[in-house]
Amino acid sequence: MNIIIMGPPGAGKGTQADFIKAAFPIPHISTGDMFREAVANGTELGKEAKKYMDGGQLVPDEVTIGIVKERLAQPDCKEGFLLDGFPRTTVQAEALAQVLADMGRKVEAAINVAVPDEVLIERITGRVSCSNCKTVYHTKFKPPAQAGKCDKCGGELVQRSDDTGETVRKRLVVYAAQTKPLLEYYEKQGVLHDINGNRDTREVFADIKRLLENL
Ligand code: ADP
Ligand code: AMP
Repeated sequence: MNIIIMGPPGAGKGTQADFIKAAFPIPHISTGDMFREAVANGTELGKEAKKYMDGGQLVPDEVTIGIVKERLAQPDCKEGFLLDGFPRTTVQAEALAQVLADMGRKVEAAINVAVPDEVLIERITGRVSCSNCKTVYHTKFKPPAQAGKCDKCGGELVQRSDDTGETVRKRLVVYAAQTKPLLEYYEKQGVLHDINGNRDTREVFADIKRLLENL
């Protein structure tokens, strides 16, 4: 199962990816998570990525394609994968197609989680996540039982540095300019599936599950 989950920042890709990986035995590969981990670990990759992430810009294609290629070569991706946040440019989409073709594989479904802009801003600015186990919450839509504390591990809940102020707007502009055109790219290949993401998370997942079961 070679799947991509697409949609603007805050659409609920990570949230749905958690449901998907609990129901289907494929690894969840989020380039955003990979970059944040590199930043937290202070690696060279992290230092490079941070320059772009803080400004709401995309990390250069060659860097991003490099880490995804490496990840897809890992044994746990043999039976499939769920890519989240990649590809984000046409160059990345073409590189992915080439890497998969070299393995005799292709993208089987691109799930587009669609949510209106005004909803996205509210979702992004209310997002907090556990500094320890990374579980994602929302101060209004998915609040933890105790404010500021993770329900699962008691870790401190923190806001992403790129989820505030001007960076949020910048990320939405970058999405519209550089990533949205990919929907047409996958539609032309006959693998695009639009899902209404502006509903309860379980309703959204019910549609995704049905779609994946029928692939
Ligand atoms: P993405 O990975 O697309 O950036 P997330 O999955 O992190 O988005 O979701 C963004 C924020 O919106 C999170 O705080 C999450 O808890 C919340 N959220 C996700 N899906 C929904 C939904 N269907 N309804 C309300 N809030 C949601
Ligand atoms: P995300 O967690 O998907 O919202 O990504 C957070 C940030 O990581 C983005 O704003 C980019 O700076 C960077 N990033 C994540 N994925 C990619 C990608 N495929 N290409 C370029 N930059 C990316």
